Amino acid sequence: LSERLSGVFDRLTKQGALSEEDVKTALREVRVALLEADVSLPVARDFVKAVQDKATGQAVTKSITPGQQVVKIVHDELVHVLAGDGEAGALRIDNPPAPILMVGLQGGGKTTTTAKLAKRLKEREGKRVLMASLDVNRPAAMEQLQILGTQIGVDTLPIVKGEDPVTIAKRAKTQAALGGYDVYMLDTAGRLSIDEELMAQVAAVRDVANPRETLLVVDGLTGQDAVHTAENFDDRIGITGVVLTRMDGDGRGGAALSMRAVTGKPIRFVGLGEKMDALETFEPDRVAGRILGMGDIVALVEKAQATIEAEQAEKMTKRFQKGRFNMNDLKMQLDQMLKMGGMEGIMGMMPGMGKLAGQAKEAGFDDRVIKRQIAMIQSMTKKERANPDLLQASRKKRIAAGSGMEVSDLNKLLKMHRQMSDMMKKMGKGGMLKQAMKGMF
Ligand code: GDP
Ligand code: MG
Repeated sequence: LSERLSGVFDRLTKQGALSEEDVKTALREVRVALLEADVSLPVARDFVKAVQDKATGQAVTKSITPGQQVVKIVHDELVHVLAGDGEAGALRIDNPPAPILMVGLQGGGKTTTTAKLAKRLKEREGKRVLMASLDVNRPAAMEQLQILGTQIGVDTLPIVKGEDPVTIAKRAKTQAALGGYDVYMLDTAGRLSIDEELMAQVAAVRDVANPRETLLVVDGLTGQDAVHTAENFDDRIGITGVVLTRMDGDGRGGAALSMRAVTGKPIRFVGLGEKMDALETFEPDRVAGRILGMGDIVALVEKAQATIEAEQAEKMTKRFQKGRFNMNDLKMQLDQMLKMGGMEGIMGMMPGMGKLAGQAKEAGFDDRVIKRQIAMIQSMTKKERANPDLLQASRKKRIAAGSGMEVSDLNKLLKMHRQMSDMMKKMGKGGMLKQAMKGMF
């Protein structure tokens, strides 16, 4: 919400806006931080460029330097990119038995992650899980999974020596169906680097199992390499998500950003150690803080913004209580409505306005209408906005013409303003306005 409101603060507090120079200077630091965190060069470059365009012209919060403000904007954008559509920890494992295919290079943490995830599904979601090792290459790989299974109390497919991965996958599928399992996990073999034989083997397994989820397990500390691995596996096998392991190490985990930017695949989990509990849902906020390594600044700006928001809400509440709700205020409300999912969104948040929202909807009050209303307010002079009582016939004609609307449209807008103004006054007396304003910021 703070980002949305920064335009408003600009006007209300008469603070300066971020100049192109401010932004450039701060972003130089940010670029270095990203590269140090192992974000790949092209990704860092694109990211900084995107932020540059977004940040320039944004308002600077009181008591914060432009540089600090840019860092906060960068942080928010990082979180945004990392989060994607926000489907982090949720796996599609309905329709039992649901196959989950685990892929990746050797030593990335596939076997460990398979067991961690199985434990999680069992304990948190009450799923019955069957694990099967398809790693016929590495000696003792199958036993490794079996031992982990015993340790966490999850069944593993009995080992039959001499079978090939596709045969094992078929057996796992049958066993999962017969045994009434909710999920079966296929832990595949890896190679030290990507090769055709590995891919062909994994592709053959995929065709047999038809997995609901194909999770790529990669070492989060390998940066650039992790991204290449992800691209390759996605091209060849098609992955549905990524698990970044070894995020307990000292690396800053910039691979997460590169991974998202390059593959667009959601990062589902992060591995935070060798223990079976060391698997957590991917948290964009935390990882962003780590990549940027400027958590202090982010916290500082958030605090300053929260203070200002509280002050603003207080100030506005006082003005509205006195019935001073002018066209600037109305425009701000309308701007917010557009950003918060239209009339219903915002009215729903304000006590006592739910009914009005319903009426408005029936009257065909949608985003287009809001945009036209904003256009009309923009056609008013500063004086008119501050004091709508000035609006007599000739002024109305001018405003309507200026915004390409009819005077009757303008009259409707003025009526709405009066109604809202009255409501604010009433709510102010009951102390409800204060509540409502708090909810909005
Ligand atoms: P695979 O070859 O892909 O199956 O990799 P493994 O699951 O056998 O893991 C290789 C090594 O990495 C093992 O020693 C694991 O304990 C270790 N490992 C896996 N995930 C993590 C993690 O998140 N953090 C740390 N510190 N070690 C991990
Ligand atoms: Mg393994």
